Amino acid sequence: MDSLQVPRPTWMSEDLNMLEEQTRKFLAGELVPHLETWHEQGIMDRKAWNKLGEAGLLCAGIPEEYGGAGGTFAHETVINREFALAGLDSIGAPLHSGIVAPYILNYGTEEQKKKWLPKLATGELVAAIAMSEPGAGSDLQSIRTTALKSGNGYVLNGSKTFITNGQHANLIIVVAKTDPAHGAKGTSLMVVETDNTPGFRRGRKLNKLGMDWADTSELFFDEAKLPAEALLGTEEGQGFFQLMRDLPQERMIVATSAVGMIERALRLTIDYVKERKAFGKAVMEFQNTQFELAECKTEATIGRVFHDHCVERHLKKELDTATASMAKYWLSDLQNKIVDRCLQLFGGYGFMDEYPISRMYRDARVQRIYAGTNEIMKVVIARTL
Ligand SMILES: Cc1cc2nc3c(=O)[nH]c(=O)nc-3n(C[C@H](O)[C@H](O)[C@H](O)COP(=O)(O)OP(=O)(O)OC[C@H]3O[C@@H](n4cnc5c(N)ncnc54)[C@H](O)[C@@H]3O)c2cc1C
Repeated sequence: MDSLQVPRPTWMSEDLNMLEEQTRKFLAGELVPHLETWHEQGIMDRKAWNKLGEAGLLCAGIPEEYGGAGGTFAHETVINREFALAGLDSIGAPLHSGIVAPYILNYGTEEQKKKWLPKLATGELVAAIAMSEPGAGSDLQSIRTTALKSGNGYVLNGSKTFITNGQHANLIIVVAKTDPAHGAKGTSLMVVETDNTPGFRRGRKLNKLGMDWADTSELFFDEAKLPAEALLGTEEGQGFFQLMRDLPQERMIVATSAVGMIERALRLTIDYVKERKAFGKAVMEFQNTQFELAECKTEATIGRVFHDHCVERHLKKELDTATASMAKYWLSDLQNKIVDRCLQLFGGYGFMDEYPISRMYRDARVQRIYAGTNEIMKVVIARTL
């Protein structure tokens, strides 16, 4: 019997059950065997993107007419949970498929959708979104990158940091001021195809506390020339509103990773304490261990039910930003708490890099920081009080 007995969401269909099984099999056979190499080299192999594309695991929620798998956010959620369950914490695919591709689908012109989405679905293009700058993260209105009109196009100047998929990306949505005199209303989303953009330069792939093989990089734009069609959509000054409208989905992607990582941590720990002996009995037999894990399982179940409820509301287009922020902040906090308690039950082995729980502890920390810090989530929730 499964030691967690995770409740199945009501929105799981036969089709989604099959996707779950296929994804699990694909990841175990094709990606998990490379984890140690990626961990050592600090980045995933570029060709893994194409493999994901071939397996239909990129852009699952994008309509078939644009090369996607024609699914919904439920499909994305099933795949993202499998990434977490398989220990692929550092993978940038959820951002590629669930954040960048939907911006193009929701706000791009027909021409832009036809040009970019099919290549994102195959992995020919790898996507990134560049909002954060050395001087501005939470306070996005104060970004300094500019995209100013010049001839028939734009000239992009500025620097971005902490950008996921930064080394591999060849399609980057850059948040820039097209009218620096106006804060939010002067902000636009510019789509940069890096292969033909002189003036674009990649900086360092940054060393981090965790998510060792996540491709997190600096990017520089120095008089980078962009064609007029680089503007996402047809109207300048829409960037901030476009970003705001898609926030619930971005926050649910982090919440789903949290749910998957919590389940993985608990499964690994339950297996370990049943095997490990101390004072002549299995560590599982101590009442402290049982109570610790009973509490963790209870909270994990509560978290999963809330997560699934939020996904259901998002599928019905009823999920508001404040509720999605609750899911992001509460589940990522819970993930950190549970992984810490699980690690304690591993004793000294929990501190060793070769034990997955040790890496999970390090990987968990950033979940409270990126996609909007948990403090910003509370600011958003507090506005509804
Ligand atoms: C691994 C990783 C991957 C990332 N990927 C991307 C990416 O792909 N694209 C991208 O654009 N960015 C990315 N980021 C950046 C991330 O989104 C930012 O780090 C985050 O939004 C916080 O911004 P900051 O680092 O500038 O912190 P700051 O904004 O300087 O915040 C510092 C502290 O002040 C607090 N604070 C700020 N404002 C308030 C407030 N109003 N009320 C209360 N407290 C406040 C914060 O919560 C935080 O504790 C990534 C970051 C990491 C670490």
